[in-house]
Amino acid sequence: MKGKTMLLQIVILMLAGIFVVMCAQQDEGPDPKETEVWEPEPDVVTPGELTAPPSDAIVLFDGTDFSNWEHENGEPVKWNLGDGAMTVVKKTGSIRTKQGFGDCQLHVEWRTPAEVEGEGQGRGNSGIFLQGRYELQVLDSYDNRTYSNGQAGSLYKQVMPLVNASRKPGEWQTYDIIYTSPKFDSDGNVVSPAYMTVLHNGVLVQNHSELRGPTVYKGQPQYEPHSDHEPIVLQDHSDPVSYRNIWIREL
Ligand code: MG
Repeated sequence: MKGKTMLLQIVILMLAGIFVVMCAQQDEGPDPKETEVWEPEPDVVTPGELTAPPSDAIVLFDGTDFSNWEHENGEPVKWNLGDGAMTVVKKTGSIRTKQGFGDCQLHVEWRTPAEVEGEGQGRGNSGIFLQGRYELQVLDSYDNRTYSNGQAGSLYKQVMPLVNASRKPGEWQTYDIIYTSPKFDSDGNVVSPAYMTVLHNGVLVQNHSELRGPTVYKGQPQYEPHSDHEPIVLQDHSDPVSYRNIWIREL
């Protein structure tokens, strides 16, 4: 009889244990739906084939005309147009978009001359100036040493690229840029600086890098207030650098 009582007690204890565990499992805590965000729903965008413009991009240059561009004095573009690309014509001057832009995602394809001439900053030099001021350097940096914060993928004279992802001269290269414009208060003080994230040929070279002000060749950069939307400028640095397939998504 004593053995049977013991067995009964063990069974009761086990059942009580199972009951406690089940109760604990049923204590669900917060409803997971509380942290689900359904509105707004992100827009559906059809990605382009490889680097072709996605469906919501503004195409700035598709290789056929200069309709979205002008020289900085407002004159028609005197660069060469051909083979689906435009090429800098020495001393004609830099060109800019007719439209101004602020925060954006920008795709640019560029090519430095296959025939290598010059060295350092004198080899395949051009540049992409966001808001006409903040330069992402374009340079033939394939086996061509120059100062690190002046090579391809640098925010010129401010931030060197994380790596050198350059292709050979004469090959097409890509920049995918995510740009955050600087913000100024009504007195012209900087509320937040400009930032750039850049993929060079699909490789991260600038990771949310801060700009200290507009690009300057000499001295230290210093912010000056400007409007929210300013043109994108492509630099004439006297080298016949080519561009194609330029598109932008405003953010
Ligand atoms: Mg340059």
